[in-house]
Amino acid sequence: MTVVTRFAPSPTGSLHVGGARTALYCLLHARHHDGRFLLRIEDTDQARSTDESTRGILRDLRWLGLLWDEGPEQDLGRGPYFQSQRLSIYLEHLERLKASGHVYEAWETRDELKAMRDAAVARKEDFRYRQRPLSDAQIQAYRDEGRTPVLRLKAPGHDVRVQDEVFGVVVAPADTVEDIVVLKDDGFPTYHFAVVIDDELMEVTQILRGQEHLNNTFKHLGLMEALGWEPPKFGHMPLIFNPDGTKMGKRDKAKAAREAARVARDARKESGWAWLAELTGIDEAELIRFMKKKNDAIPTAEAIALALDVDLPMIEVMDFRKAGYLPEALNNYLALLGWNPGAEPDGTEREIFTLDELVARWDLGRVGRTNAKFDADKLRWMNGEYLRSLPDEVIDQHLASWFEVADSELQDMDKARRDAILALYRPRANSFRELERAARWLWVRPTAYDDKSVKKWILKGGGLERLSPIRDVLAEAEWTEAGLETALNALAEAQEVGLGKIAQPIRVALSGAAATPGLFECLVLFERAEVLARIDAAVQALSA
Ligand code: GLU
Repeated sequence: MTVVTRFAPSPTGSLHVGGARTALYCLLHARHHDGRFLLRIEDTDQARSTDESTRGILRDLRWLGLLWDEGPEQDLGRGPYFQSQRLSIYLEHLERLKASGHVYEAWETRDELKAMRDAAVARKEDFRYRQRPLSDAQIQAYRDEGRTPVLRLKAPGHDVRVQDEVFGVVVAPADTVEDIVVLKDDGFPTYHFAVVIDDELMEVTQILRGQEHLNNTFKHLGLMEALGWEPPKFGHMPLIFNPDGTKMGKRDKAKAAREAARVARDARKESGWAWLAELTGIDEAELIRFMKKKNDAIPTAEAIALALDVDLPMIEVMDFRKAGYLPEALNNYLALLGWNPGAEPDGTEREIFTLDELVARWDLGRVGRTNAKFDADKLRWMNGEYLRSLPDEVIDQHLASWFEVADSELQDMDKARRDAILALYRPRANSFRELERAARWLWVRPTAYDDKSVKKWILKGGGLERLSPIRDVLAEAEWTEAGLETALNALAEAQEVGLGKIAQPIRVALSGAAATPGLFECLVLFERAEVLARIDAAVQALSA
């Protein structure tokens, strides 16, 4: 039997690292077993689903290289792959459940359900909806009021057991499994109903999804039983946590933005939020709601971060792409976030794997049960490893796709010049964004000079005075790496100092600090006149 996994995102927001990890594990599992990785868009929640979100998810999966074998734009005959286009299929199966007496109408309003739930909580009980006997007159009265019923499935009435591939056997006692809604009062099936029908019709054999869905699995098993279907295998992935033990999620961005706003408010000795409303252009009342945690709107969080010049935590795939991360690194990191590849034959541990190597090594049995901790520093390190080791042509492609989403000053640069900059800085940066920041002195004059570098290389040991003969040499030298090297070495000899005493003052004058890649390689990236102008500016600024 062909192994089929599926990634089934709801298009109600952007793809975040948790979703990307699920998609990755689904792909690894399917490929490892020469099976099929299917993508299905779960857009039954009409109010919250958007086309923009769907497009974003497809774009992010493609950027990650997590290409589905079947799904949107890849129809293998089991489509459509958007739940919103499968309504008639769901209704057909609903008829079967009606005929077999597995579903019944329930008429409670939202408020009535809430009151029932509150009453259960007051009795210190868990609320589980069960069918209530209704007379025909009562039903007619509801109809006359204009109510529309939902359809609920009768719970199986026995304990429900899941043989989970990660968590082992998990049992839900009969009385904890409630009569779930399968058809909402707007005529749309619920997620629970649609997902069960689709997994069956799309021939899914292995469901892999986040641990937050484990409780849903009991509901789904009840439905499968009612429909007379053999359940697929299940595997639930442990949740992803922040290093501080809180659950990682989009809310973290709002939290970080609020914290930054409070710090800035205190530093400015302000009291309300009018000043921030002005800075961000966000309506003050809206800002107050955000600060009071009435919502976690990401656009608000991002506007605050921009206005206060702080970085928000990266959570969505697009955050990493915008920051100049590489898909190879993100996949590699996410693969190891909750899955253990095992030791090498020689007993050593290895952390860098290509996607093909991950596929070859994949073993669902090695997915951990404990919560995974997202370590942003480790991912950053891993990204640096890939930035250094990927072939130039691959880096070029990634750079082009970075330019599509980020404003970068490298973009409009002449390619030969950009290549030279990449060659100099790939060994020293962990992301495209870091690389650009570190290299920026090559095209932007320094506005300040680093104190330590100035003390050590300019104010001590005659650095400032030496800039004058240095300038004379640079004004005449042949403007090639070899020519500059010869000329500056000759100067060092004439001055009876080491080359460092020549090179470091030049670095400080040109970049503002004493750390740059190889001086001669850097120098040839400048016009001679610009170098001389920067030396003049430094002499003037630092003599004062
Ligand atoms: N659509 C669900 C979600 O985005 C996933 C459903 C599933 O994997 O079964 O959370």
